[in-house]
Amino acid sequence: MALPNNLPEDTDLLAQLRNFGVEHVIEKMTHEECVETTLRYGTHNYHPIDVTITAGHGPYVTDAHGKSYIDCVGCYSALCFGHLPTKILDVMAAQSKRLILTSRAVYTRELALYLRALCEFTDTDMACPMNTGTEAVETAIKLARRWSYSVKGVEADKAEIIVAAENFHGRSTTIVGFSSEENYKAGFGPFAAGFITVPFGDINAAKAAITPNTAAILMEPIQAEGGILIPPDGYMAGLRELCTKNNVFLIWDEVQTGFCRTGYRFAWQYEDAEPDLMCLGKALGGGVFPVAAVVGREEVMAVFTPGSHGSTFGGNPLSCAVAMETLAEMSAADYDVRCRKLGAFFLQGLKDLDHKVVREVRGRGLLIGLEIQPGYDEQTTNAFLKTGILTKETRHRTFRFAPPLSSDEALIGEIVRRIKLALDEVAASAS
Ligand code: PMP
Repeated sequence: MALPNNLPEDTDLLAQLRNFGVEHVIEKMTHEECVETTLRYGTHNYHPIDVTITAGHGPYVTDAHGKSYIDCVGCYSALCFGHLPTKILDVMAAQSKRLILTSRAVYTRELALYLRALCEFTDTDMACPMNTGTEAVETAIKLARRWSYSVKGVEADKAEIIVAAENFHGRSTTIVGFSSEENYKAGFGPFAAGFITVPFGDINAAKAAITPNTAAILMEPIQAEGGILIPPDGYMAGLRELCTKNNVFLIWDEVQTGFCRTGYRFAWQYEDAEPDLMCLGKALGGGVFPVAAVVGREEVMAVFTPGSHGSTFGGNPLSCAVAMETLAEMSAADYDVRCRKLGAFFLQGLKDLDHKVVREVRGRGLLIGLEIQPGYDEQTTNAFLKTGILTKETRHRTFRFAPPLSSDEALIGEIVRRIKLALDEVAASAS
């Protein structure tokens, strides 16, 4: 059947999909239709930027009007190699012709090899495969609690986990229960007990919160969603020392900071604050697929026994192949060193702007936050869009910049140039 230029409006969508094919129907949708349909049929738990992205390539995306942007949201660090990374897609295509989905009721070679590769990359003993960062954090909480009862000897149901204010670890009811962001938790209670919140960066507060029932300290090495908040020097190492002295687990949530993003394979390496458990996600999927995991020492990972934890899709052959290729690529190239250098260049470029709209710039590697002065939020988002930069605010009026690890100085220079243009426009419209 010949494809019409415009889809007839009166046919129902399922008929259109059947008659013309998914691809054609996708191509025909305008930005306005996309917004209207999303808001009509989807829950309103996001407030997207007013742009419909139709294609991506490397660090760039294109919108429904054909305008190009440098994607600095980078799917919150998940797009480690930019859009459509060739090597990962090749492995994905090959694996798609062989085996995609089994269950954990059987063994697969893909899972076996992936587990080993992940342990070698992270220098840990064992791994538990999951799909999303939230699941990885939930898994770590379970491991720490069970370990505290079965090994440390904490009384049943009394385990405590120390967390930081302004944290972000996901959206499950357990996790939002210990968020300090009212918007994340309002109306979702009752929440799980056993979480003690301390200010991020205050080692004495963490020390004072430890009791004989403390199973673990769970924190992000940089609070990314919190507004790219970097703890004071010595904090990570201080937590490591505190945990060792008190027989408490240190759990780093490296879901957003991991895999070279901050200039080391993992952000805890800035202070050699090695965790007992580490939560991983986002970039582990090579920018194409949700893949997550918890890794750790055998002593704690061994508390899981058959039936105590699981996931239908966790460790499926397709995600294992994709993650293995990601790990192979990450270990072949010096992304850590490269990101440290590029990050310093980026940060200096932003500092040199010395712009009156900017309150502070901070970051490590290619995870950079630009905090603007109060009152400029809306204009700044739009000015960035106009200059061809896709970025969105985290908390504290901080715009996040997380371009691909495979960026170069020319690209970072272009991002800084566009940021300056956008900030100049904001300043001009405010004066
Ligand atoms: N932990 C951290 C540090 C994160 O940044 C995120 C996601 N932004 C999560 C956990 C949750 O990951 P997911 O959305 O994949 O469940």
